[in-house]
Amino acid sequence: MSSTTDADSDELARLREENRTLKRSLDQEREKRELFEGYTKIHPETGLPNYGEFYKELERLTEPGSNGEPRNFCVAMLRLDNDYQRIKNSKDRSKALLLRTTIRIREVIGDTLYQSDRLDEFYVIVRSPASLDFLARLFLAIIREVAKPQDAPAEGLSFSCHIGFAESPLHGTRSSELMNNAEIALRYATQKNKRVVRFAKSLGLAYHRITILEQELRMATQNGFKDFFMVYQPFVDQQGVIKGCESLIRWKHPELGMIAPPQFIPIAERTGDIRILGRWIMYRSVVQLKEWHKQGFLDLFVSVNLSPIQFNEKELVQNIAEMLAALKIEGRFVKLEITEGAIMSDPNLAVVKLLQLKDLGIRLSIDDFGTGYSSLNYLRKLPIDTLKIDKSFIDDLADNVQNQEIVRAIISMARSLHIETLAEGVETAQQRDILNSEGCQYIQGYFYSKPVDPDLFSDYLRHGAVLPYDPSRS
Ligand code: C2E
Ligand code: CA
Ligand code: CA
Repeated sequence: MSSTTDADSDELARLREENRTLKRSLDQEREKRELFEGYTKIHPETGLPNYGEFYKELERLTEPGSNGEPRNFCVAMLRLDNDYQRIKNSKDRSKALLLRTTIRIREVIGDTLYQSDRLDEFYVIVRSPASLDFLARLFLAIIREVAKPQDAPAEGLSFSCHIGFAESPLHGTRSSELMNNAEIALRYATQKNKRVVRFAKSLGLAYHRITILEQELRMATQNGFKDFFMVYQPFVDQQGVIKGCESLIRWKHPELGMIAPPQFIPIAERTGDIRILGRWIMYRSVVQLKEWHKQGFLDLFVSVNLSPIQFNEKELVQNIAEMLAALKIEGRFVKLEITEGAIMSDPNLAVVKLLQLKDLGIRLSIDDFGTGYSSLNYLRKLPIDTLKIDKSFIDDLADNVQNQEIVRAIISMARSLHIETLAEGVETAQQRDILNSEGCQYIQGYFYSKPVDPDLFSDYLRHGAVLPYDPSRS
């Protein structure tokens, strides 16, 4: 018996000791945590309350109010845009800038600004916003403050931010739900380059689709480009004779089907995949052109779209020169279509680059002309061969006197600068007749032909003109 009692008391002593050890380690753990939390409540670089504080406040707010009802508040996420990313590596400037930016935002929003775990990202809580209109004005005020020009050491810089927000209880009553939804709205805002986006269920789907497309696009470019192909749309002169063509990319995903360029080109531009895709596009287009030259159509040229991202690449000219040399084709058979935006973002640099391309014999078009901001002054300085008059001026050309005047002005200005004009998106005989009578030299559009595969384009060439319109071909 006694041995059992001894054993029991031994066991008891052991358990007590174990308990003490456990309690001690728990105490130490708690002390450490308190110390840690106390220390990290404030973000060391911006002095803002950190993510932990934000989450605590969010948890508090998602508790029902005194009347038992969920509270009315708004959670927003704010991220500085790409221009901040560019200077991130220059430490002094980015530090000063970050501090100033947070001070500016706090001036608008007060003390409910929190730092996320990224330096360029913040949370904002707006308690009991009076209305959606109030929120919109508040967020626009933040954006205006952030975008104000900076002083030294970040002088000359100005950038902005994107904001995504979700409201309680409309978009969720749990902390995690509200945070996720604000983040979905923010990602949508950055992906679509919008300033302020309010959460909506459909954004979740759109965001999901964009994310899937991003991944699929990366895979498709790494997978030998086999799901991509090029189609070609003829340019005809006033007699209806084919003079050249524009190459346009198509993506046929094995499961998602055809995905239109306006859906995936902006994604490729944002992820940077456009660089490799653009090279493939140029290569395919020139290889195809050589095939037509081989078939005897020796004057034909191909016009290739160049994304602003490609245009800004340092190695652009060298890459093109190497490709022309490797494929043994003269530069004069290649035209590049560049948008006004790509040129105007840094016109002085653009002129240098355009001149280098001209040195290779390449010809240059300004795409979507009339939609951007190119000043006539610059146009004179640019070595441009062709203006492509944007489709938006052509659409209602027959009934819209103002557009007729714009088109007339573009054509006469181009003529005086010895620049050719081409009208894009021409769909009717009436539009073509007006353009011909105004002296527009070239026409591109469904009226003559949709973009077609190379075989049908070869048929056009053999036929000497586009074949009669057949809605089934495209
Ligand atoms: P964009 O360069 O302005 O190309 C003209 C777009 O208008 C093409 O759409 C073409 O199919 C369409 N189009 C031509 N004629 C007509 C017409 O009479 N009526 C109508 N409704 N549409 C017409 P697509 O191929 O969907 O391309 C859309 C945009 O995507 C292009 O606009 C261009 O910005 C971009 N894109 C297409 N292919 C490429 C490419 O190979 N590289 C790059 N960087 N961008 C491309
Ligand atoms: Ca184009
Ligand atoms: Ca265009």
